[in-house]
Amino acid sequence: MTSTDATDLRGGDRITVLPGKARSAHTYRPLTRGFAIEVTHARRDHAGDIEATGILLTTRGAWRTSVPTRTVILPAGSYTTPIRVGDAVYYRHTGETPVVTAIHIRPDGTALADLLFRTGATGSGYHLVQLQHHARPATPPVEQPCKGRHDPALPCRRCTQATEPVTTGCETPLCSRPAVNLVVWSPPSGGQQAKALCVSDADQHMARLRDALPLVIPLADGTHSYLADGSGTQVATCVHCSHAIYLYPALLGRRQPWRGGAYDETGRCPVGEDRAAIRVVHEPAVTVAERDYARAAAGCGTGDLHALVDCPARRP
Ligand SMILES: [Zn+2]
Ligand SMILES: [Zn+2]
Ligand SMILES: [Zn+2]
Ligand SMILES: [Zn+2]
Repeated sequence: MTSTDATDLRGGDRITVLPGKARSAHTYRPLTRGFAIEVTHARRDHAGDIEATGILLTTRGAWRTSVPTRTVILPAGSYTTPIRVGDAVYYRHTGETPVVTAIHIRPDGTALADLLFRTGATGSGYHLVQLQHHARPATPPVEQPCKGRHDPALPCRRCTQATEPVTTGCETPLCSRPAVNLVVWSPPSGGQQAKALCVSDADQHMARLRDALPLVIPLADGTHSYLADGSGTQVATCVHCSHAIYLYPALLGRRQPWRGGAYDETGRCPVGEDRAAIRVVHEPAVTVAERDYARAAAGCGTGDLHALVDCPARRP
């Protein structure tokens, strides 16, 4: 066996140990029941078998919390081929063989895959345990414009949209241009109102609203909406935590102005800091590819856009 053999194992691989063929590393007895593990350590023993230590997984692919790690002796054919980024997999629902472009691990250990189908369509949130290994490329693929890893020769819809900026449309009826400004004004009836407008519609609007003391706020890169309260607060999606982040008018022009909510004074992104182990601030995803990748990588799975403080997945 060479080191590129698909049956080789390394840390991070998830395999199902098949019943009957594998043996306990402690008793050398054959293991009569199958189970899934995430390999933390693997080495080849003198007999050519693999001695692997791993964390036991639930049927959903989450880490089992109450059970310690397990060490097993794996002869050839005693475990399933692990799925790695770049591998083609069987997608049972349609019989297709898409390519895995990224694998994201949820806080409970569940592994979710991003898939690139042969048509160029992409999807995310596929449970790794429900996919079956099909083929591995000779060389591991490198990162592509879509932020996933795949053969650059494969058609990929997300790659073609990679530079498409996140925008919000001009709110003037029948105008299809992207908005560049947020016009905020105080109507005579009281309160405040805001509207996202393109350059020419913003100019017209300003001229009409002279007496209402309109204020023009340029839309920041990554802004896709604004708060309905008329405050002129912009809303984007954080590239690190994938949650809603806010740019308050009072912080315009500051160096790191995005906040996780009204009571966030520092703008620090706890999810990004957990992952990078350094200080990370909320930053907007500025391209559609960046935003989609962030949602697949860090999304809490609820689908709707909310602030981190309101996240149902983080509530104790
Ligand atoms: Zn791509
Ligand atoms: Zn317009
Ligand atoms: Zn964040
Ligand atoms: Zn959430």
